[in-house]
Parts: sequence; C-alpha cells; structure tokens
Amino acid sequence: MTDLELMIDLDARLISDAMRLRFYPLAMERAQGCRVWDVQGKAYLDFAAGWAVVNIGYGHPRFKEALLNQLERSNFASLISGMHASALHLAEKLIALTPGDFPKKVWFGFCGSDANETVGRLLPIATGRRRLVSFIGAYHGATAASMAMSAHAAQSHFIGGGHVVKVPYPHPYRCPFGDEVRDCAQAAIRFLEDYIFKTICPPEDVAGIIVETIQSDGGDIVPPPTFLPMLADLCQRYGIYLVVDDVKVGMGRTGRMFSPEHFGVIPDVLVLGKALGNGIPLSAVVARKEILDAGVGLAIFTAAGNPLSCAAGLATIEAIEQERMIENAARVGAYLHQRLRALQAKHPLIGDVRGMGLMQGVELVRDRQTKAPAAREAAKVVYRAFELGLLIFYVGMFSNVLEITPPLILTEAEVDEGVAILDQALSDVEMGRVSDEVIAPYSGW
Ligand code: PMP
Repeated sequence: MTDLELMIDLDARLISDAMRLRFYPLAMERAQGCRVWDVQGKAYLDFAAGWAVVNIGYGHPRFKEALLNQLERSNFASLISGMHASALHLAEKLIALTPGDFPKKVWFGFCGSDANETVGRLLPIATGRRRLVSFIGAYHGATAASMAMSAHAAQSHFIGGGHVVKVPYPHPYRCPFGDEVRDCAQAAIRFLEDYIFKTICPPEDVAGIIVETIQSDGGDIVPPPTFLPMLADLCQRYGIYLVVDDVKVGMGRTGRMFSPEHFGVIPDVLVLGKALGNGIPLSAVVARKEILDAGVGLAIFTAAGNPLSCAAGLATIEAIEQERMIENAARVGAYLHQRLRALQAKHPLIGDVRGMGLMQGVELVRDRQTKAPAAREAAKVVYRAFELGLLIFYVGMFSNVLEITPPLILTEAEVDEGVAILDQALSDVEMGRVSDEVIAPYSGW
C-alpha cells in the first residue's frame, strides 16, 4: 500500500462522516505560499485556501514567528477568568479597524458557528425582541443555533428554531421573484417590508437581521450593489440591528478589509472567523457595546480568546495591512474575473461568473437558456482540476458553483496557471472524459 492508500483507508475507517465534505482524495503533507504538497510529493496550486481561511498564505514568516513567540511565553492563559495582552491588542485593533465610531466591544470564539450563535443569543436579550430574520441560501454555521439561523439546502434535514424568519436573497442570475423582475434587490426588500413584516413577523419584534454581503456557500451570489444599503436603511427605520456575517469574505478577500465597506454600510454587528486566525481557530464578534454587554458570562467557551489564537489574529492583520494584500486581492481578483469571463466565452457549461476581489464563483449550467444546474459536472470539474494540480471546491444551493478563494498573495502568473488547468478540466468534462465512477466516493454537498 502507498502512503496515500493507507491514509484513504484509515480516513474511511476512523473519521466521522458527519465532518466530511469531500471532493477528492487530498492528503496534505506541507504547504507554502499558495502551494500545497501531498504525501506523495505532488504539488497543487491552492485556489481554495482551505475554504477561504489561509488569506496570508501558508508558512508566512511573520505568522510563524508570532506563534512561536507566544508559545515561548505561555501556551495558554484564560481570557474567561483573566487578562492577557494578545487578546487586548487584538480587540483594540479590531475595534479601530471596523466601520462605525460608536462604542464597541469584542467577543472571541473559535469558529464562525459559535460567533453567529452568540450573536443570535445576545440580540434578543439586548433588545427584548424575540425574532431574527435571515436569508434563504445563508450559511451561518453548524451548531444548532447557527444552523437555525442558516437556510442552506445542505442543512435542510435539520429543523431550526421557529424564531428565525427566512426570506429570499436577491440573486441577479436566478432572481427568486422571477426573471422578469427588473430590480431583484428592491423586490427582496419590498417582500420583507410589505409582506413578511405585515403578516407573520412584526418588525417591532425583530431584534436583528443577519446577512452575508456575498452569499458564499449559497453559491457565491453577489447581490445588486443597492441591496446592502437598502437593508441597512430598513433596519434603521425599524430599530433593528444589522448583523453582517463576514466570516467567509472578510479580512481583505473582497478588496476591502471588511465587505460592507464597499457599500458605505456600517453594521451594528460584524462577525469574523475563518481567515481571522489564518488557520488557527479564532472568531470574533465586533459589535455595539450594548449588544455584547447584554449579560455577564452568557457566551463562555473555556479556551476562547486564548493567546495563541489571538497572536495568530494579530499577525494575520499585520501581514494583510503591511504587505498590501487587500490591494493585491482587488487587482489580481479583477484579473482573475476577466480570465474567468474569457473561459465563459469558450465553455458552454459556464452560465455565470461573479465575485468581488479574490472571491469568485463560476456557475455551471446544462443549458444557458433554462439554467438547469450542472451539479454532476461541477463535481467532475473539481475532481479533474485536482488531478491536474489545482485545488478548488464547489458550493451552492444546487451544488453547481465552482468557488475560487485563493490566498490573497496570489500573483497574475498563478491566475494564468490555475485558469489554464480549469480550462483543461472543463474541456475534459465537456468531452465526457471524466467518469461517474471516479467521483462516486466523494459526496461533496
Ligand atoms: N458564516 C459563513 C458566512 C460561513 O461561510 C461559514 C462557514 N462556511 C460559517 C459562518 C461557519 O463557520 P465555521 O465553519 O468556522 O463554524
């Protein structure tokens, strides 16, 4: 047995299916920059960054040094029952960086799920209002409460809490109100205000509306640019807190440090995770003081805000800022978008290309007229790209959107390299060269 075969066997026998979302047999050995090597020494260009996590790239010297320094001093200090400098510095930094010059505080956790759960718990207590509104297609997490706030097709086996009302998200390529609707964002806001608020969900009982600026796991959906400002305005008019879940597209990915900045919108609550720790578990809620102070000890996790996680967060922010990674994400992202559009002209499978900065989605369809989702084809393209040395995943309510979220240090030459592989993978799938059998073991989502 090769090392890889051995690992595949152990993995199948030992690792729970409940934490599986597999697209191909990747067994990572080491990684540097935007490259990953597997246990057989094969190199891959990483256009996924482990689900938009490794924004500053793998093996960043500043990051390694910060973690080693912290380990030298102490591997742990409780923030729940004590203080330490890394958490205070990181909190100070986050408060300064995030939009809104009202009194703010910071809560720390380990992942996007616990952060969103905490927001969902504190908002009703802070406001005395019982309900939350979220959007169909949203992925806010995998704990019971954050699943209840989500509305992703992959989680439809789970029945969430009845206090969360879910409404349509404006998807320009597949407007839920019909293709003939001229302004999908306006239709979504009107539906919420004129129908939902006037029927099943009185606005005076709504504590918060939680939204993703780009609905990522839902299919890398970029709503019309008027959407977030209109939603912020609606929240303002009804005294509802606006929560932006920036877990996946925050930390520079869209070409701004935080995605609402593109629209001049100041959320009351900003949720961060994934790239905040560049792979070391860390999430944060940065929000109005009165929300995060709604009760003492209401969201405690023993090791939350630990010094290693906070050191990782600080080093990540410093690297993003000092090495101009946001500018790079905007510039190289625009180039990537243009190269993907050129692929669309060549491949009938591609129905739509959309994104901001280094968050790009490529929606595959069987027919450009009917827009029938090409889910099996997406699974095959992702698998074939892996064989050819490119790591990407697919997302979407219909499992048919290729997602591209590379480290923010990606170069134009690496874009060319990755797009050439994608081009080849698309051709191979279009020509029927990738069998159903090879993708059968990988359920994806
Ligand atoms: N929010 C968003 C927008 C996400 O994309 C995700 C994960 N894909 C989460 C929250 C949950 O984060 P985690 O998996 O770290 O709990």
